[in-house]
Amino acid sequence: MENKITKFLAHEKRVAVMCLDTTALVEEIRKIHDLTPTTTAVLGRVATVSSMMAHLNLKETSDNLTIQIKGNGPIGTIVSICELEDLRTATIKVYADENKLELPLKENGKIDVGGAVGNYGFLNVIRQNDITNAKYNGIIPLVSGEIAEDFTEFFAKSEQKPTALALGVLVDKNGVKRAGGYIINPLPDATEEDITKIEQAIANSKPISTMLDENLSLEEIAKIVTGDENIEVLKENLQVKYKCNCSKDKFERGIRSLGKDEIQTILEEDGKIDTECNFCHKKYHFSKEELEFLIGDCPIC
Ligand SMILES: [Zn+2]
Repeated sequence: MENKITKFLAHEKRVAVMCLDTTALVEEIRKIHDLTPTTTAVLGRVATVSSMMAHLNLKETSDNLTIQIKGNGPIGTIVSICELEDLRTATIKVYADENKLELPLKENGKIDVGGAVGNYGFLNVIRQNDITNAKYNGIIPLVSGEIAEDFTEFFAKSEQKPTALALGVLVDKNGVKRAGGYIINPLPDATEEDITKIEQAIANSKPISTMLDENLSLEEIAKIVTGDENIEVLKENLQVKYKCNCSKDKFERGIRSLGKDEIQTILEEDGKIDTECNFCHKKYHFSKEELEFLIGDCPIC
């Protein structure tokens, strides 16, 4: 199964819409981190909104997007990093501190995403260009930890944009059944009438994961949530894929940054360092000889 991402224009080009089916991506993330249903729902929503923002905000392959969510809930810190492989394909890697967390369902039968993330803390979005070093940094306090509400607030506060945003992850005993989302941005010439129509359309629509589960196409979903039968496709076949570009060199730089004294202490106590990548769980081993070489060779130690 492939992920599907399509951009549309609605209400005679006055409203921009993006719809995403990230079922394949979220199932891959579940497998990589061996997630529980609770953490699948949390990381699935974060990965879906990250994919959305990557396709909204990243313009060049040297751009990258980091999202950090730190709430007072038991899942701890969540981090996602997106880049562009080419103008159609975003890459993502994501992790949370506690992959094994599992909470009881809420009274309405839904997974307790807000309970896992917490409603006290912050959401931080950093966009950066590796070549120009241009940097955007937006931070807001969390609203509910339910992710979609927090990002809606982020767009309203940091980007001064009225935005409707929905995220959903449906999990069953076999894994991720459906995952996806949509985002609706009224453009500057959108009318009050357009916005009222959209608000009514969203209020009358089913959750995004239900619509995907009923096998509605992204185009059908875009029509339903905008209340416009005459939407047009702006860009289709956009993609997102999981990619971790960690390497032993990167971990070596991390070890060097500990400084000579710290490495010396580790050498005396353990005689080695075993590390693991948070994003893909690849393991890196540094032997006694390698650490001794690092100390001798290190320009900053
Ligand atoms: Zn990795």
